[in-house]
Amino acid sequence: MQQQVITELKRLVGAQYVMDQLEDRICYSFDATFRDFPPDVVVKPGNVAEIAAIVKLAGRYNVPITARGAATGLSGGAVPVKGGISLVLTRLNKIIDIDTANRVAVVETGVITQDFVNAVTQAGLFYPPDPASAKTSTIGGNIAECAGGPRGVKYGITRDYVLGMEVVLPDGSVVELGNKFDSEMAGPDWGMLLVGSEGTLGIITKIYLKLVDKPSAKQTLLAVFTSLDDAARTVSEMIASGTIPTTLEIMDNLTICAVEDYLKVGLPVSAEAILLIEVDGSTKAIVKQAEHVIKVCRQCGATEIQTASTPEDIDKLWQARRAISPACGKINPTKISEDATVPRSQIPAMVRRLREIAQKYNLKMVIFGHAGDGNLHPNILSNKHDHEEMERVEQAVAELFKVALELGGTLSGEHGIGYMKAPFLQWETGETGFAAGKTIKKVIDPQGILNPGKLFNA
Ligand SMILES: Cc1cc2nc3c(=O)[nH]c(=O)nc-3n(C[C@H](O)[C@H](O)[C@H](O)COP(=O)(O)OP(=O)(O)OC[C@H]3O[C@@H](n4cnc5c(N)ncnc54)[C@H](O)[C@@H]3O)c2cc1C
Repeated sequence: MQQQVITELKRLVGAQYVMDQLEDRICYSFDATFRDFPPDVVVKPGNVAEIAAIVKLAGRYNVPITARGAATGLSGGAVPVKGGISLVLTRLNKIIDIDTANRVAVVETGVITQDFVNAVTQAGLFYPPDPASAKTSTIGGNIAECAGGPRGVKYGITRDYVLGMEVVLPDGSVVELGNKFDSEMAGPDWGMLLVGSEGTLGIITKIYLKLVDKPSAKQTLLAVFTSLDDAARTVSEMIASGTIPTTLEIMDNLTICAVEDYLKVGLPVSAEAILLIEVDGSTKAIVKQAEHVIKVCRQCGATEIQTASTPEDIDKLWQARRAISPACGKINPTKISEDATVPRSQIPAMVRRLREIAQKYNLKMVIFGHAGDGNLHPNILSNKHDHEEMERVEQAVAELFKVALELGGTLSGEHGIGYMKAPFLQWETGETGFAAGKTIKKVIDPQGILNPGKLFNA
């Protein structure tokens, strides 16, 4: 990168917010995936005007820009595969307004998801999207990846709560898309184009989010199965029966053992699978829902059902769910985390096919995830330095994508495409859909400076 660019960046945001030493660049070269590409320079702007100026500068010098929130992404979105500027957005971290009368919040992009959730809860309302990374991820990253989470099965995912946003476009202009009103219909919903766009179409700086009523009560249940198939069938049957729990999470035996070894919370290590199920609503409604959940679980072969009602017991179960990632990291150093998602009715078939794939390629695969919305997380536990094993991993991943599509599903339920799944995107979109995606990218970002190498610009 030309020294002139770095000098101008320092002038725009202050020298203390521009880092170009190798050790700094290495720190911003990776996310939660397993490959690293260092940027040429790291910049931490403090407001929208600075971001607009940086984008204009990058355009003048034809330098790529990769937006970065907390870098918890699982598809490599924040990794600057073509070098250039790593644009770190964590200084834009103000919760600007929680408007309880209109049930709308206005936040800057770099607000940590859990900080926002806590502030909304304190104001007496509820923001349902709950990625398992909430304690670290940013709201901007959630929008750019369209994050999901355990509650998606009942409450939907991030896109269902986005009303509008302020965006810096690739030419450096600043636009407001949508606004604070749920019923806004002045033209097409351009903001939705940015949801899930992974930093390839604009830099999101401010977001308007919809808030809802807080449920008055909830109950958490743990159903234990001696067969993974039975647990998978329970998920399909539960949804087909018309009862939509708030969460419906699955963990297979390898996952249960890894978490128990890590946390020692008393999980049933001899079970082939467990389902972590939560229902919420009025006190009266949850009693009926829980009864129905227990009935379906028993009909499908659950051997034991535990219920947790105190905050401590509920927290213990969720602690187990949240500990899956670090627990698996203890088994093998490289965790390839996929999120291929299938229609709920196909979960039993998907689970069977995943097990066959793991066996065929002789790989250690844990299966867990938001089964209630078809979003299984097959994670392959491997070692990136073992090249022979990594080749088998690549073949297994390609096969699991094929299977998900064959079953009517998608490559990604929530982690996005990034650079990791970009080579496979056309399998899902088809040639015409892929060409349309490329055309949209070209129209909005003709120079291709925003996050090159991701999504349609692969
Ligand atoms: C342990 C663990 C658990 C996880 N659980 C879940 C889960 O339950 N559900 C889920 O959906 N995901 C999950 N993830 C994945 C990840 O946390 C989400 O994708 C999250 O939304 C990323 O947020 P981030 O701030 O870390 O974004 P980053 O990783 O920094 O960036 C992600 C993408 O967004 C772009 N981006 C970031 N900010 C902006 C902006 N302001 N404007 C434009 N583009 C931007 C980046 O360029 C990149 O393409 C998990 C990850 C980990 C490590």
